[in-house]
Amino acid sequence: MTVSKLTCCITLDFDGMSSWIGSAKSQNPSTISRGQFGAVAVPRILKLLNRFSIHSSFAVPGHTAYAYPNIVADICEQGHEIVHHGWVHESPADFDESGERHNLDEGLRALERITGTRPRGYRSPSWGFSKRTVDLLIEYGFDYDSSCMGHDHYPYYLRSGDLWSLDAAYQFGHLTNLIELPVTWGLDDFPVSDHVPGFNQGLYAPSAIEEIWRGDFEYALANSSGGVFVLTLHPQTIGRGNRMLMLERLLTHFSAQDVIFDTMHNYALRWKAANPRAAWEKANPDLAGTSSTRL
Ligand SMILES: [Zn+2]
Repeated sequence: MTVSKLTCCITLDFDGMSSWIGSAKSQNPSTISRGQFGAVAVPRILKLLNRFSIHSSFAVPGHTAYAYPNIVADICEQGHEIVHHGWVHESPADFDESGERHNLDEGLRALERITGTRPRGYRSPSWGFSKRTVDLLIEYGFDYDSSCMGHDHYPYYLRSGDLWSLDAAYQFGHLTNLIELPVTWGLDDFPVSDHVPGFNQGLYAPSAIEEIWRGDFEYALANSSGGVFVLTLHPQTIGRGNRMLMLERLLTHFSAQDVIFDTMHNYALRWKAANPRAAWEKANPDLAGTSSTRL
């Protein structure tokens, strides 16, 4: 079935404490408590999504699922998708193969134990990839990933085996069956909102963030028929007062347009059915990495 409407995936990365432990490597209880606020924020976000009848995708590290099993169960109960988001929010780029497998295994074990189902989608912590991540995600049976930035509002098939160096032409690897639902830092609440001393200024006015996201949405709506608008939000970030009000205004605006709200998994399956790999590869040689072979 080909759908010409734009699909909105309002995605939530429920990192909890794990991002401050696994990514920031913090030993500071005050810093860790920033993640604890995520558990305060999720119920109010669920309430807002429910008001707009939006089914969303929540990316959850295994470590966070163990810390807040009741909240994760509530997310599932309300019909949202749970996405693999690492074990303790570690970047795959920082691990060797056995370490990367360990993190995938532990994340899966936790999410399966808490939710009773195996996640079908993956979003890497901090959007980091190693050169073997695509192959591992295929081996582990994921249907899609949402961590890369090779397009704005259309999915694409990921390649494996690309090679690059300073003294040779870029070498494209082979196309795989793994679908990418692309993200961008520009549609992520963390860089514009959260202050991390010495690392990220953040603290933009919600009105400025609203202007940026609304503009990107307008562009997607006008130019990306059948495409997808992926917004990446963090409960510990978006869940505070004036940002919640901004999100409410945005959802009111998005809902008034002719768009579909859906989970990433539902959209990925729909897109794949409408875009078989062979036909997509022929129509998109630059993304597929096949156009340079004519040289
Ligand atoms: Zn995260």
